[in-house]
Formats: sequence, C-alpha cells, structure tokens
Amino acid sequence: MQEFSKRASQKLSKLSDSQIQNLVSEISEQSELLDSIFQSISTGLLVISTDFHLNKINKAAERVLSFSVNPEDARAKSLFVWEIISNEEIARFLKNSFESKRANVREEFSVLTADETVRFLEISITSLAQNKNLVGLIVRIEDTTDKRNQEILLHRMEAMAGLTNIAASVAHEIKNPLGAISVHIQLIQKAVRKKRNSDGKLPEPKFLENYLDVVNQEIDRLNGIVVNFLTAVRPISVKLELVNPNKVIENLVSFFEPEFSSKGILIEKKLYEKDMKLLIDEKFFREVIVNLAQNSLSAIVEKSEALGKSYVGRIQIHTFVKGDAFTILFMDNGGGMDEETVKRVFEPYFTTKADGTGLGMAMSYKIIKELNGDISVNSEKEKGTEFIIRLPIPQGKRALLTFNESEK
Ligand code: ADP
Ligand code: MG
Repeated sequence: MQEFSKRASQKLSKLSDSQIQNLVSEISEQSELLDSIFQSISTGLLVISTDFHLNKINKAAERVLSFSVNPEDARAKSLFVWEIISNEEIARFLKNSFESKRANVREEFSVLTADETVRFLEISITSLAQNKNLVGLIVRIEDTTDKRNQEILLHRMEAMAGLTNIAASVAHEIKNPLGAISVHIQLIQKAVRKKRNSDGKLPEPKFLENYLDVVNQEIDRLNGIVVNFLTAVRPISVKLELVNPNKVIENLVSFFEPEFSSKGILIEKKLYEKDMKLLIDEKFFREVIVNLAQNSLSAIVEKSEALGKSYVGRIQIHTFVKGDAFTILFMDNGGGMDEETVKRVFEPYFTTKADGTGLGMAMSYKIIKELNGDISVNSEKEKGTEFIIRLPIPQGKRALLTFNESEK
C-alpha cells in the first residue's frame, strides 16, 4: 500500500482529479489508522526530532509523565523536549542522553503521580532510522510498577514460609509465663481453701497481693511476647524511592557519634559512590543501620567491660559497588559470635542477651529481603563481627556504564 501511494504520487500529474481524490483519502485513512494504533499502545511513546523537539506523543506517555507546558500546545513545539517535562530527573536523563548522542539507553525512575502514588517507570531511548538515515529518536516508557509489586509479593510469600519457625518459638516463650500464672493461681486457691476450712476467713491481704503481683507481671510478659510477635510477622510494606544510601548512613553516624565517642568508641566510614541512588525505603533502611549499630555497641561495651582500658572499640562502615550490587560492610571489633549464634542470628527471638528481644536482626533480614537485597554475617568469637548487605543498583544506572557500544 505504501509502495503504491509512493508510485502514484510520483505520477501525480498524470492522474485524474478523482484518482487524486481517492489517493488522498486512502492516505489519510491509513494515517488515521496508524495514529489510532500509536495512541492505543500501552507503552508510552514520544517521537523526538533530530533537533530534540517533541514531534508526537501517545496517550500512555501523557498519562505517566507530567508536563510544564501542554505537549499539544504550539509553544511546546518550540521548546526542547526536556524543557516541557516537569520531572527533573527524567528531563535531565533525556537532555544528557540526547546531547551526548547516546541511544539505546535505559533507566529506571520513580515518579509521584497526580493521585500521590509512586509508580516505577523504565525509560529507554532508541534511534529512529528511515532508509538508514537518522530521522529522530523514540522514547519508550514502560510502567513497571505492577511487575515490581508481583516480585515483592513473591518475596513476602517466601518470608511467610518462615512463619512456622516463629510460631514454634512463640509457643515456647508463652509456656513459661502461662506456667507461672497457673502455679500462682493454684497457690492462691489452696491458701483460700485452707483458711476457709480453719477459721472461715480470707488469708492475709499481703499474702494474696504477693501472689497476684506475680500473676500481673507474667501477664505483662505475655503481652510483650504477643506485641513482639506481631512486629515480627506483620508484613512490612516498603515504599521504594530513589534514595542515596550514603547520605542516610552519614546522617545516622553523625547522630550516633556523640554517644559512641563518649564511650570511647571510634566510628570510621569509607563511603564510595557518593551519588549512587538506590530504590529503597529510607525509613526501613535506617532501621537496619540502627539495629546493626546497636548490636555493635553492645558487643563492644560487653568486651570493654571484660578487658578494661587496654581495648579500643571500633566500628567501620564501608560502602562500594561490587558486581551489580551496592555493598555495605558494617564491622566491629566487639566480642564476636560463636558458631551457634552465627547460624541463628537472623532467627526471630534468638538472643544471647538477658534483656534482648532477638528481633533486631530478624527484622533487618526481613527488610533487606523486601528491598530485594541480601544480608550475611561473618563473625568470630573475641575477634569481631562483619555484616555484609548487598542491594541491587537500579537497572538503568547499570546500563549507562555499558550502552555506548550499541551506538556503533
Ligand atoms: P538482640 O540484640 O535483642 O539480642 P538481635 O536480633 O539484634 O537481638 O541479635 C541477635 C543476637 O545476635 C544477639 O543477641 C547477639 O548474640 C548476636 N549479635 C548480633 N549482632 C552482633 C554483633 N555485632 N556482635 C556480636 N554479636 C552480635
Ligand atoms: Mg539487637
């Protein structure tokens, strides 16, 4: 069909009026069809001219992007495409890629939509060629939010499989206070019965109160167990956004430093990839770092109580990129763990401390899994402990390192 209209248009002067009319109406029908296909595609598409102006945009792209100038406006045509897109990061990405003549690039973004929900967009740029000539660029926008939510759901289901273990340890924890309550109620009953049989009176109030105090304490303990249990099993719902992990660590360290240095503990940090942003939930990520710091603190305090002045407690935090992961090493020279503890450190309710909950590391494990990362530990008794956290780098950031190849 296209070939036909091309040939026909070359012989335009030889065609009759009605033939020309037919030709024009065929061409316009064809263009309408193509346009309605373009508009109904679920992938967002922007067609950009070689001088970086917006030629064409479809409905899907208009839905997920926001604009400072209506893209249909005549004024939009006179501006560079990055000047009409409101989202700064996306605009910068397009500007940088276009100006440095990079095609075949891809990057992931999180954007806040008009109804305040976060959506994840994967934006890629490819060149548009006609007869081997570059005639423009195509920007494709895929909404990857649903795919991502599916992955999170899968993770959550895996985590639920660990629930049987937790239930077993809770049942174990509950047995002791329940036993104590039952014993003390029996003691009260026995005392009441004895007094009734002798002088028909009630036992001394003091005597009963002592028993009732124990019962109350044990009920509080039960309540604590239940509350902790709920924290351990409740699915957490992370809100992923592009966050600079080094900044979060810097802020926390400056928050801890006064307390740590008052105890003579040194904190050293070597943070690399200063501008790296990861898709994480800042609040939960912070919780992990706080848990690690608290555990290091108590391992160091315990060791320095044993060793006295000759020992200097030290915490080291290193961040760097290794392979396709952003890596955090969190190390201390505290008392370390024995083999049994290393094996069970992420288990809910596992603690070696008299006042421990055994939930800090279980929670941290859960959080890191929800962030699609992993956490592991190396530790040796007396030597110290090293936690290793690996978090995925958003795909586009990785692609940027290698994509230039495909231009040639
Ligand atoms: P809690 O701190 O309440 O005991 P956690 O889940 O935070 O619970 O830690 C579980 C156990 O793992 C701790 O009781 C301790 O034995 C061990 N542990 C965790 N971090 C360290 C560390 N940095 N050094 C030594 N032991 C640690
Ligand atoms: Mg802890």
